[in-house]
Amino acid sequence: MPDQSQYEIYAIKYAHLFRHSPENFIGGDEHDVPMPLDYFVWAIKGARKTLILDTGFAPEMGAKRQRQHLRSPAVGLKAIGVEPGQVEDVIISHMHYDHSGNHDLFPNACFHLQDREMAYCTGRCMGHANLRGAFEAEDVVAMVRRIFAGRAKFHDGVGEIAPGITVHRVGGHTSGLQVTRVMTRRGWVVLASDASHFYANFQQHRPFPVVANVVEMLEGYRTMTELASSPRHIIPGHDPLVLKQYPAVKPGLEDIVVRLDADPIA
Ligand SMILES: [Zn+2]
Repeated sequence: MPDQSQYEIYAIKYAHLFRHSPENFIGGDEHDVPMPLDYFVWAIKGARKTLILDTGFAPEMGAKRQRQHLRSPAVGLKAIGVEPGQVEDVIISHMHYDHSGNHDLFPNACFHLQDREMAYCTGRCMGHANLRGAFEAEDVVAMVRRIFAGRAKFHDGVGEIAPGITVHRVGGHTSGLQVTRVMTRRGWVVLASDASHFYANFQQHRPFPVVANVVEMLEGYRTMTELASSPRHIIPGHDPLVLKQYPAVKPGLEDIVVRLDADPIA
């Protein structure tokens, strides 16, 4: 019988953006090469229920921000047998538009986020264009409405979501960014989300340029390494390499849904 506190993890790609490597590091990159971003939501599937990490953005937001929206995250979820309306818990890594949109996708879920993130995206920092650029007021308002509806749960630092699943505030990219640690058949996997956009950010200790606190971003790389069973158990938030390094769920889903609780194949 599978251990009740071990989970399967799925990365579901829903959007894409072409860009060059100097845009992905503070100080640029001496090798000016293509380095696009993929956009994901993640499903954490246990014996009793499935939890979701981040909610992505809708096609209209993709058009507004000139990102290539490929499909609703619901398409990938249905491909692995997850009905969004039945999801009870959604973890929000941080409140940026590409992680907190699609407001009606999980109508029955409780949303888990950090105290510091809500304070950050409703407070004085949003008066600075540089800091609010990746936030959308409508996403923040949607979260406020959930709070008033009793559908939000706040965490302060470390929080347990379910046995074998914890969140950990690392900050850096935004003030209240949290990473998610999940027990799987191969040990502790850390879903970094935007604590590290690419493998290169944390592996080479080279911070991503959208940042609230560089010290916390660098410390976050270290924290993730401590939380994960090995560096190969850390999953960056936007790296197209993830789809190459992990096996597809089934034929036809190679560039859409991969299994992160499986050992890397590359
Ligand atoms: Zn992001």
